[in-house]
Amino acid sequence: MSISYASEKMKDTNSKMEKQMKNLTEQQKHILFEKGTEAPFTGEYVHTKDKGMYKCAYCGNALFSSDTKFDSGTGWPSFTEPANLKNIELKEDKSLFMTRTEVLCKKCGGHLGHVFDDGPNGKQRYCINSCSLKLHKEENKNDKKNR
Ligand code: FE
Repeated sequence: MSISYASEKMKDTNSKMEKQMKNLTEQQKHILFEKGTEAPFTGEYVHTKDKGMYKCAYCGNALFSSDTKFDSGTGWPSFTEPANLKNIELKEDKSLFMTRTEVLCKKCGGHLGHVFDDGPNGKQRYCINSCSLKLHKEENKNDKKNR
């Protein structure tokens, strides 16, 4: 029996996903796939001011631009908006006796954090776990020139 193109492609996707899974720490897996939360002020990107795109740590989906990052004082990386609304999914979360809005990666379903309406200048506050993100830094051409 021959294997159809569709399942071959699926096989490739699965092995790629498996490889990506191996690159995650246990804490990252817990946060992304068991809806965990990292302790405040412990995440890699809390104070990061580098320019670039924060992508999903698992699937690489472009999630948040550094241009929208601000210091919320909460201890988690905070953004006023996603890089593209189409890349995230919002879901009502009634856990812990609260009603919050959960933010998920649209592509892989990984848990990212929550969004609140108390951002700066009437904007939103996307409160995101560092563990769910991987910053892809922008190359600074001027830096290279000056070296
Ligand atoms: Fe993802």
